[in-house]
Amino acid sequence: MVEQNFKVSILRANCISCGNCWGTCPKVFEQNNEDYHSEIVKDYRVKDNPGEGIVPKKVTCVKDAEANCPVQIIHVK
Ligand code: SF4
Repeated sequence: MVEQNFKVSILRANCISCGNCWGTCPKVFEQNNEDYHSEIVKDYRVKDNPGEGIVPKKVTCVKDAEANCPVQIIHVK
């Protein structure tokens, strides 16, 4: 079976709020209003966890965000 979704995780505690991910892939990432770290937008969140998401494979910018995170805390499978 072909995998239709990406699993995305952010190790939010280690985020340095550089903005690369929401600049690269604003459909999926945004800045949290309280701790200013990156989070997954509500529509793609898993169980309301801001650090975990399920994203359709056509949203390929998540791979760019993973590659561009300077502290390598975004993981896409
Ligand atoms: S690219 Fe990485 S360090 Fe920068 S805001 Fe996104 S998760 Fe945080």
